[in-house]
Amino acid sequence: DEDEALLSGDYEDYFDEEDQAGLPVLAIIGRPNVGKSTLVNRILERRAAVVQDTPGVTRDRVSYPAQWAGRDFTLVDTGGWEMDVKGLDKSVADQAEIAIEMADAVIFVVDATVGATHTDEQLVRVLRRSNKPILLAANKVDSANQEADAAYLWSLGLGEPFPVSALHGRGAGDLLDKAMEILPLESSVAQSMPKDGPRRIALIGRPNVGKSSLLNQLAGSDRVVVNDLAGTTRDPVDELIEIDGRPWWFVDTAGVRRKMHRTTGADYYASIRTQAALEKAELALVLLDASEKMTEQDVRVVQAAIDAGRAVVIINNKWDLVDEDRREQLKFEHERELKQIQWASRINLSAKTGWHTNRIVRAMDEALAGWETRISTGRLNSFLGELVAAKPHPVRGGKQPRILFATQASTKPPRFVIFTTGFLDPAYRRFIERRLREDFGFHGTPIQISVRVRE
Ligand code: GDP
Ligand code: GDP
Repeated sequence: DEDEALLSGDYEDYFDEEDQAGLPVLAIIGRPNVGKSTLVNRILERRAAVVQDTPGVTRDRVSYPAQWAGRDFTLVDTGGWEMDVKGLDKSVADQAEIAIEMADAVIFVVDATVGATHTDEQLVRVLRRSNKPILLAANKVDSANQEADAAYLWSLGLGEPFPVSALHGRGAGDLLDKAMEILPLESSVAQSMPKDGPRRIALIGRPNVGKSSLLNQLAGSDRVVVNDLAGTTRDPVDELIEIDGRPWWFVDTAGVRRKMHRTTGADYYASIRTQAALEKAELALVLLDASEKMTEQDVRVVQAAIDAGRAVVIINNKWDLVDEDRREQLKFEHERELKQIQWASRINLSAKTGWHTNRIVRAMDEALAGWETRISTGRLNSFLGELVAAKPHPVRGGKQPRILFATQASTKPPRFVIFTTGFLDPAYRRFIERRLREDFGFHGTPIQISVRVRE
């Protein structure tokens, strides 16, 4: 993506997703030709940002960093999205739904000179279902005597229409002021992670698997004196540890270091602790005691990391105690208990002796890269096209669900939304996931796939 942006010369257009992390997202929605792209240009105040697209060329980048009244937010533009000519209404509604899902608030644009059309009404239905804050923009009100046109749009039932001329800028400031009122200060859709600095790792596992031993082994003599690091704000329970010359935040280590007594409720406490650490982390290092039979609690910890949507590396600790027999059992236990996480790296090591602890960094890098992978909408849809052509969904009860369109709604972890004409078999979904992993290498990260059925 970066290369592409640099090659085409639109540097400004390219932005680092990290910088926008956690900022509220405002989406501009509306049927084709109402002036969405024009409004986006107006808001971004740089015409070059949104290139007039060649028809038929999919523009994949839909989010832009934007500012208004001293506030930073992310603007999602649906103006250049390809429309399916056959089912125009439907594809407009589908794509709007994706954009709405990615948004914290929506500006719904209607062409006041045309009035509410059938497609507009379809979109209102989608908007209503979303329960997101909505602002109704009555566009193409280029002069005061056109304001009466805007008033007709009360009929859409979305409250007061705000007259605006995206082309000339008339009313645009007022519209944005209003938009800032409905836009939450913090995003509930974007990841609110610290923008930069060392990666955040949760070291988790049931009691006695060797978490504090590993922490000590990794910290060794290379413990970073945090006060030396200018400008780092730090939670006292987090620890900065340098491994191979690179610093990593190990979050919530107080919980790891504080020895837990095996009393009633320890399990519960451990799971709360795990949850808290996962909240703050980007990656989970899940420790298992390879010398003992895998327990239910081990599986629960692994599942918690997956459910939290974190990158995962699995560690088989205490390898110094593992003999040939145990090794065989372990293989069997992994196959049976951890089949939901075949995609994660496994490292056999000994926290006690330090054997193979040097393999951790590479696995973490790989998992984090997978976690942040983004596939462009164009690539994703051609991939799915080929996949379906090679292996169509089986016919069920005389029906065969078709895949209409898909998009990667987010990263960290990768999340996909697939629009179909019917429910997909679980087996077919798994097939899609498997192929996604084969083709795009989402190693070490969970993938979330949601299917939206259009009737
Ligand atoms: P989109 O498909 O919703 O992104 O619409 P565009 O932004 O591409 O605009 C469609 C057409 O409407 C273009 O010819 C624009 O110049 C025109 N347009 C957009 N906003 C206004 C406006 O405020 N006033 C007038 N008169 N025309 C506008
Ligand atoms: P925690 O409760 O997960 O923090 O586990 P600890 O780090 O306190 O380790 C529990 C016990 O396992 C301690 O007695 C450690 O010495 C031991 N232990 C940890 N790692 C290893 C290892 O790699 N090999 C062996 N043999 N023992 C280990």
